[in-house]
Amino acid sequence: MKTNNSLFNPKPGTKEYKRFIIAQNAYRQEIFLSFFGIYGQSPGPTLLLNAAVHGNEVVGVEVIRKLVEKIDPCTLKGNILGIPIVNPLGFNFGDRWDPFDRQDMNRVFPGDEKGTLTERIAYFFFKNIVPKADFIIDLHSAEFPDEMIPHVRLRNNCPPDKGHWKFINSCGIDVIWQGPAIPGMLQVEAAKLEIKCLTLEIGAAGLINSNNVKVGLTACENVMKIMGMIKGTAKIPNRQILLKSNEEWIRSPNGGIFKPDIHLGQMVRKGQKIGDIMDPTSFNSENIFSPLDGIVTGITHQSIIRSGTRLFMIVHFDNEQKDKHFRTINPSLPNTKIVENKLWQTIKKYLT
Ligand SMILES: [Zn+2]
Repeated sequence: MKTNNSLFNPKPGTKEYKRFIIAQNAYRQEIFLSFFGIYGQSPGPTLLLNAAVHGNEVVGVEVIRKLVEKIDPCTLKGNILGIPIVNPLGFNFGDRWDPFDRQDMNRVFPGDEKGTLTERIAYFFFKNIVPKADFIIDLHSAEFPDEMIPHVRLRNNCPPDKGHWKFINSCGIDVIWQGPAIPGMLQVEAAKLEIKCLTLEIGAAGLINSNNVKVGLTACENVMKIMGMIKGTAKIPNRQILLKSNEEWIRSPNGGIFKPDIHLGQMVRKGQKIGDIMDPTSFNSENIFSPLDGIVTGITHQSIIRSGTRLFMIVHFDNEQKDKHFRTINPSLPNTKIVENKLWQTIKKYLT
């Protein structure tokens, strides 16, 4: 690890579990972060895994739990540090944030030692844990009640230099979504310390399913294999699909009960029926049709809807612009087998 610190006991070949007490709630119960360290027998990089910066995004919590169970410190090269729930305040209420201070923790890094409770936890994490890492995987899910196709969320000011792209490629996720850099985000603030942070968006807030956990687990293990921390060959798609964050959601024209006909990653045609809205007052229903050709990249899990509720995100590709949307993987990644990007196969069929 970069520096020694009395907070940790990084003895090679061991696992460590700790609680870092930070503050108190109104009833004087301790507010703490649960930490684990897996200290490899051999030297190597230090990877920080964290989840639930938004308290209800729990897919990553399960991904980290499974990794802690699986990874043997005696065969690990380097160290893995983990905070499975960075925002225990939001988690405690099953919410994205703490209902008292209503702050988005992913907008307040590096935090404030004397600030609100959210800012104090962010400060502790950013000051004591983040600087120990060479790389971070920051696990998120789509905001409730939506789900988006699993993707890497890349913020523009993180320079897409070779090292960062290698890290992005290494996770093997098919889609990269580029969005604006907002001060206070973990990825953006970690970049100022020259620490590479991969933000993964997998699944929906408040929900876990085994497919999404597998996607997250595979992504983390791919990174560790390519970095030489664990043994094995990473399966990496031959190209990653680049999307911009200005894609718009298709919103409901009316209220009622919504039933989708399509799923994430499916190709749809303009005019195709993609769902129904049932009228709860008459028990009639109306059909919803796709306004464009494209791939379904977002969907709501909410059934009770009203006018303006987000239903689907469908991204259009055309033949002329398709090269802008794809980035070929660097074939020189170590410990890697290059495989076809399945989503690209779907898109290719729709383009021809
Ligand atoms: Zn999030």
